[in-house]
Amino acid sequence: MTLDSPRTAGFANPALHAQGLYIGGDWLPGGGIPVLDPSTGEVLAEVPDASIGDAMRAVDAAEAAAAGWAATPPRARAEILRRWFVLMTEHAEDLARLISPENGKALPDARGEVAYAAEFFRWYAEEAVRVPGEFRHTPSGAHHILVDHDPIGIAVLITPWNFPAAMATRKIGPALAAGCTVILKPASETPLTAYAMARLGAEAGVPPGVVNVLTTTQPGAVVNAMLADPRVRKLSFTGSTGVGRTLLAEAAKKVVSCSMELGGNAPFLVFDDADLEAALDGAMIAKMRNAGEACTAANRFYVQSGIHDAFVAGLTQRMAALRIGPGSAAETQVGPMITAKAVAKIDRLVSQAVARGARVTTGGTPLPGPGYFYPPTVLENVPVEAEIAHEEIFGPVAPVYRFETEAEAIRLANDTEYGLAAYVYSRDLARALRVGKGIESGMVAINRGLMSDPAAPFGGVKQSGLGREGGVTGILEFLEPKYFAVQF
Ligand code: NAP
Repeated sequence: MTLDSPRTAGFANPALHAQGLYIGGDWLPGGGIPVLDPSTGEVLAEVPDASIGDAMRAVDAAEAAAAGWAATPPRARAEILRRWFVLMTEHAEDLARLISPENGKALPDARGEVAYAAEFFRWYAEEAVRVPGEFRHTPSGAHHILVDHDPIGIAVLITPWNFPAAMATRKIGPALAAGCTVILKPASETPLTAYAMARLGAEAGVPPGVVNVLTTTQPGAVVNAMLADPRVRKLSFTGSTGVGRTLLAEAAKKVVSCSMELGGNAPFLVFDDADLEAALDGAMIAKMRNAGEACTAANRFYVQSGIHDAFVAGLTQRMAALRIGPGSAAETQVGPMITAKAVAKIDRLVSQAVARGARVTTGGTPLPGPGYFYPPTVLENVPVEAEIAHEEIFGPVAPVYRFETEAEAIRLANDTEYGLAAYVYSRDLARALRVGKGIESGMVAINRGLMSDPAAPFGGVKQSGLGREGGVTGILEFLEPKYFAVQF
């Protein structure tokens, strides 16, 4: 089925429709993976189900293109990435109207994602020509140390469903800038955006085989087969910590370099001296971007006693005012969750918290179908030992906890296996920075509800991941330093 079938007619530019696996510059037709609209549960389209053989053909194609791409002057690689950025920007509305139905996110969120995603191509077009090297004297003064950087090799890129465009460009941009060829495996729930972007990449001048895209119903077997192939030297994964752990073990067998962007459990700290309105504005962004389906989503709100009640009242008012509906409807602010299973998990976490004494101030019960809807929800009086404090909610639920002292806030914030993102609101910048230093996370937003920026290093500590994406460090994940010991 193509996307201009009656069920999907008009939601996107027909020129961007997926028509098969994208391997070696060819579109290989097939089916087997239905793509659902989580707003209705209806099938939007079907994409091919790649076999291990298809994956090996993708590795062959990436290998065939590797030497030529690595030898392409950085300036030429940069120009192609830059054209890809321009094309994504020109097709922004079409892409947003693909993301929204397949993922469910509200159109404003989808438009925001396309702009964010395209920026990775612009940023890495700029970084492609700035790959660093090193020249040093040995401490003895007798010799010289020269460090060059080579492309690491063929990279397998695996992305989740929550940001179908941005999680792909955040990997493809630095990989191509570094001179690597790639095989992208997008999430089965949201493959249409990845295929559409591949079409734009070809139009931008990405040579055949440099970017390959495949979808499969057996991600474990297909990815393991690629990792077992000695030509594959890099795995860049974004997804859950559980799958990340499995893939790390698999990659260890051939000592494949891994970058891992995994789950989060972000604390959002509000001190008595915070600007209440600013904290509420930030809380709404940190919690409700993508309807809470973000790895950086504020998962635990710790609010100091003096401002606690006003914060809960303000948050409740704002959350209750949000308009819920199908992602693609113009008035929608909060779309559906990705699956019925996701709604069931949120419902379980909220019900358990309520059973332990939490009080619902708005929301709190799944909405009837069709579609997988959970309403914006605020919980107060949540006991810190409730499961919801320790699990990634990945939905529009804001549990609020009360704290008294700075030390207590830091201790609570760190009471998790995760360490991706954290938010601190205080008018006292010295305190905010001190608290930020004390929190075990890769990123801290101070008096801001949004931290994602293609120019900044994104990533986590503890069980939230390994390595960084974006910024000047992102390209290093796809480069291997080579040291020359030199005697002049
Ligand atoms: P997921 O279940 O881990 O899936 C992520 C990707 O891995 C999908 O493409 C999936 O394919 C694939 N996959 C699943 N099992 C696999 C296996 N055994 N071997 C190889 N690949 C496998 O995660 P998700 O539910 O899509 O995404 C939500 C999670 O991603 C959350 O935990 C969130 O925090 C995290 N995330 C992290 C970041 C970050 O930057 N740190 C950003 C966004 C999301 P299928 O779709 O075919 O199953």
